[in-house]
Amino acid sequence: MTAWEANVRKVVPYVPGEQPKIDNIIKLNTNENPYGPSPRVKDIVMDMDKLKLYPDPAASALVDAIADYHGVTSDKVFVGVGSDDVLAMSFLTFFNSGKEILFPDITYSFYDVWADLYKIPYKAVPVDEDFRLNKEDYYVDNGGVIFPNPNAPTSIAEPLSFVEDIVKNNQDVVVIVDEAYVDFGGETALPLVDKYENLLVVRTFSKSRSMAGLRIGYAIGNPKLIKYLSDVKYSFNSYTMNMPSIIYGVESIKDEEYFRSTVSKVVETREWFKSEIEKLGFSCPPSSANFLFVTHNSIPAKELFAKAREAGIIVRYFNKPRIDNYLRVTVGTREEMEKFLDFLKTLC
Ligand code: PMP
Repeated sequence: MTAWEANVRKVVPYVPGEQPKIDNIIKLNTNENPYGPSPRVKDIVMDMDKLKLYPDPAASALVDAIADYHGVTSDKVFVGVGSDDVLAMSFLTFFNSGKEILFPDITYSFYDVWADLYKIPYKAVPVDEDFRLNKEDYYVDNGGVIFPNPNAPTSIAEPLSFVEDIVKNNQDVVVIVDEAYVDFGGETALPLVDKYENLLVVRTFSKSRSMAGLRIGYAIGNPKLIKYLSDVKYSFNSYTMNMPSIIYGVESIKDEEYFRSTVSKVVETREWFKSEIEKLGFSCPPSSANFLFVTHNSIPAKELFAKAREAGIIVRYFNKPRIDNYLRVTVGTREEMEKFLDFLKTLC
């Protein structure tokens, strides 16, 4: 190794799901929402001339719209470039005690990457054999707690009382609840934000609002938490939110009817697909998300993954201990899921 290389920060990066460059595939691998943004977003004509200016560094229009939507004041809202950006900033801002932070061993695989990047010690707390978190495991001295609810890739949601118990028992540290999938059936922790100043709830426009391509995420928490987060953001990049994201994000928030109808279509298709694949020897935990975590009683997941890919259907396979016989299947349109089901029927 050359001298300069010895001082390079070396990380093993997060590997996102494939974004294939080929047409005519059924893409069920990255938990996107197949319905696309609200027509209100599509109808907006942006004044391109405005792009000569820097965007509002505070993204106030979007912050205010999100605050309004959730019935909180704007000083409780922080926005970022997808919830990945919000989470990365939160790790940098809140997890500095030098003590181990805690998250489940089976969870969003970006958490350990951020911890490594920022040199934050961590402990991956084992979930039980049904992939459930055990709340008592989090009642120990730690440097912070983070978990998704519903969890990914398991799709399992824990009730609000469960989340509250974890927050209540960790009031000396910041607890982050990653609610990327909550709109598909989870119970939000937002009502607890006023009660616990150490709670940060993180959300995204990528899933239930079908706007993954725009990269909008946000956090809601006590104004003190938001101020600390903003200070770090302004020390990193003033203009995280670009102008189109601010404009289109505001418009999406205004269309509650479209939001609700597309979310319920996803939920309906999820439940129908689950009951159909169970007839073929598949099983999966109850899902509160826009995906199912499936395993088959005889065909190995790795083989299923490869065969589906050959047939032009892409799902997610994690070659990791405990979950290497599972596939994470995003819920697409009814038509896409019917095609996937036909493929599974011929295979089984
Ligand atoms: N949290 C969880 C649990 C996720 O699965 C994802 C999606 N990969 C994210 C956060 C990040 O989503 P985004 O950056 O698109 O908001």
